[in-house]
Amino acid sequence: MSQLTNEYLVELAREFGSPLYVYNANQISDQYAKLEAAFSECNARFFYACKALSNINILKYVESIGASLDCVSINEVKLGLKAGFTPDRILFTPNCVDFAEIDEGKQLGVNLNIDNISILEQFGTKYGGSYPICIRFNPHIMGGGNYKISTGHIDSKFGISIHQMRHIERVVKSTGLHVAGIHMHTGSDIKDVNVFLQGLEVMFELATHFPKLEFIDLGSGFKVPYQDGDVQTDIELLGKKVTEAFKAYEKETGKKIQVWFEPGKFLVSESGYFIVKANVIKQTTATVFVGVNSGFNHLIRPMFYEAYHRIRNISNPYGSERIYTVVGNICETDTFAWDRTLNEVREGDLLVFYNAGAYGFEMSSNFNSRLKPAEIMVLDGKAHLIRKRDGFEDLLRNQIEVL
Ligand SMILES: *Cc1c(COP(=O)(O)O)cnc(C)c1O
Repeated sequence: MSQLTNEYLVELAREFGSPLYVYNANQISDQYAKLEAAFSECNARFFYACKALSNINILKYVESIGASLDCVSINEVKLGLKAGFTPDRILFTPNCVDFAEIDEGKQLGVNLNIDNISILEQFGTKYGGSYPICIRFNPHIMGGGNYKISTGHIDSKFGISIHQMRHIERVVKSTGLHVAGIHMHTGSDIKDVNVFLQGLEVMFELATHFPKLEFIDLGSGFKVPYQDGDVQTDIELLGKKVTEAFKAYEKETGKKIQVWFEPGKFLVSESGYFIVKANVIKQTTATVFVGVNSGFNHLIRPMFYEAYHRIRNISNPYGSERIYTVVGNICETDTFAWDRTLNEVREGDLLVFYNAGAYGFEMSSNFNSRLKPAEIMVLDGKAHLIRKRDGFEDLLRNQIEVL
């Protein structure tokens, strides 16, 4: 299924108002099909990293197409269970949580990914080898678009350094821990297939330390195109190379090992469209601003990561092109795009941000006491409201008036 058309997006904004998040579910299954095709020759499992977008309907949809789920908090685990994932299809990969949260994951029966030696010790002391676990390593490979979204560098808080293997081995030996998997995730926006292949080499070496190993989890960070001409991770090539590497490993060791991945962005980024309205056109001495009825409280990626989102004027798609700086209404620097060429924008026009499926609504807030937008899921061409727009009362929910 292809992208949603401008006309259709305008229609949705007319019906449901703006600002509005729209997700085209069929694009998620298209992306999933690409992964399945690329890795059809090896024993692969895909865990959707639901921190990218966790509306319960999206989770149910992802469940229905056969993917598994990667969760970073116990609440994501519970949402996954509620959405119909069985515990064996959930992987819990938290960071800096206390032992109680890991223990809760164990009680719920999900796959556990542990990234701290002190937690490994506590888990091993309490459960020995009775419950298989996965260990998250930091392979010290630099991947990822920029420092904020890279997790493989030497001072990253994620994973256990591969240089601490002797310590890990001591813990495993003394507690009898059953290590069924090893994991790495070096960041996001990794366009170079070699980052994964280098990581895999490191993982194969680590694998020799764990005789009961059943899977190697290579995380994610697959890059999707955000701008015209952007490079993306070549999934077909990655599939081919990873399959070759696993076949060679199997031949050499006689061991059959699964490969797991945790795509977030890759599955949902392009399925998402964020529609806003141009409230004002503001000409200053230097710049023409388009001020829209949204801000970084709804889509923080440009301000937070300097992320680029393609923008189109869907109300005037053939208007003459002009250069604008697109800004939000938050009372702080709040710029979505600098010096962007758009078809002439008039007050009241609707603009769409593409690639709004991943880390869009999910990172939204009520900053400036503004309301969170509604969310729509389009499935087989039919639009469903999957979250109502916040109302004024939502701002006071959980507040206790004591004066
Ligand atoms: C965020 C995250 C992912 C997903 O990363 P994307 O770049 O969205 O694909 C996968 N695994 C873990 C452990 C994560 O924290």
